[in-house]
Amino acid sequence: MLAVDSSGRTDKVMSANYQDRPSVRGPAWLRYGSRVRAGWTLFNHERLLRQAVMYAWRHSPFYRDRFKEWGVSPEDIRTIKDLARLPFTTASDLARDPRQFLAVPQAAVQYIWETGGSTGRPKRAFFTRWEVRRLVLTAAYAMILRGVKPGDTAQICFAYGRPSWPIGSFLQSALEMCGVLIIPSGNDLSVEAQLHTIQEMGTNLLFCTPSYLHRLTEEGQHYADLAALGVRMITVGAEPLSEFFRNQVEEAWGGAAVFDSYGMIEMGNLIAGECHRRQGLHLSPDLIVEVIDPVSGELLPPNSRGELVYTPLLRKAMPLLRYRSGDLSRLLSGKCSCRLMPTPRIDRILGRADDMTFLGTGENIYPTQFDEILFAVPGILAYQLVLTKNGFRDHLLFRLEANAPPAEVQARVVAAVYAKLAFIRHDVENSGVIEPLEFQFVPQGTFSKENIVKLKRFVDRRKES
Ligand SMILES: [Zn+2]
Repeated sequence: MLAVDSSGRTDKVMSANYQDRPSVRGPAWLRYGSRVRAGWTLFNHERLLRQAVMYAWRHSPFYRDRFKEWGVSPEDIRTIKDLARLPFTTASDLARDPRQFLAVPQAAVQYIWETGGSTGRPKRAFFTRWEVRRLVLTAAYAMILRGVKPGDTAQICFAYGRPSWPIGSFLQSALEMCGVLIIPSGNDLSVEAQLHTIQEMGTNLLFCTPSYLHRLTEEGQHYADLAALGVRMITVGAEPLSEFFRNQVEEAWGGAAVFDSYGMIEMGNLIAGECHRRQGLHLSPDLIVEVIDPVSGELLPPNSRGELVYTPLLRKAMPLLRYRSGDLSRLLSGKCSCRLMPTPRIDRILGRADDMTFLGTGENIYPTQFDEILFAVPGILAYQLVLTKNGFRDHLLFRLEANAPPAEVQARVVAAVYAKLAFIRHDVENSGVIEPLEFQFVPQGTFSKENIVKLKRFVDRRKES
């Protein structure tokens, strides 16, 4: 509830019987959680898998043709193990002709979501009204179990108004179900205006990408005492989150809890998130997940890191079987101590399979390693690392938005990179397979102009050069 006092300032008024609990683990919420769980969890995945395979074969032009090509009959897939008999479906299958995947009449489609295409051609995904409702409900349940409750004020700082990238409005629908006050501020506001809105509205839940949060934290410290703003929970998504960055942000925001979430448009935006225990990301109950070697495509033994492959069980508009996500992580063993969401959990996302790469003399590198290094350097608001090749040599260009003298920042970055990734120093100074690090300082806000929805921080152009 909002009330405006004589000064014109809006203040939240708590209803008489409402108690603001600082802890998200209060007994009432656990009871609510178990009610939620009862309606949320799917049982008998194998029966649902058989139905999903049969449905795809019957209704999807793409899969009807493929089953013929593969020489597999849908009846051959009886158990989760049998899934391995089916070839993968890839993002390029989807980009080639999304309509081939459409399994319902056009009139039954409520949303067509399109990936911004951070890699290659955009892909489209179709959803019926029922599917969107289920996805939104699942996301809302996950938020409730994480501690979102009526009386909270949620500020959504994800991109809005981009039909191809619906995460802002998707979160909004889920938050509507949680009964919170919603401030859809988007990511176009200046940092100052964003913080002002937090202050004015009494925002205690923030939703944004890690790179936006980084900017908000670095630049915001000049405008406000972030720790005093009263933000309790920050949920990030759409880009990998490193543990280092999480700790850094939590400290700056006065102990606000940062939660990681994960999703992809093809699977319906949001499919995994952390609970209040933060022991990995609970996956949506509507999926079967496999972990494969991104190069050979072989299934990996439990606990290994690899590419996640999804088979959604309840899709109607666009069934997908063994869809390669391109995202790297691993399945976690054992049960989460929350005991609220009995679904499989994944570790935080390490990056994209196609981003895992080799540098210099052949050290393999994940882009998130640079997050940990660069986000720790004071004065950096945002960064983008562009890799190119000059003959046999790798070239690293650090594009930086900074609020400190460039020469100082540059020296700090070189020192930090050399300290954390010693092979880079060796390859620059001794073996010469990496050229001296190059720096480009760009005006603040350049990256958000170049990358409206999310920033690709690691750009590998070595194959083009
Ligand atoms: Zn949990």
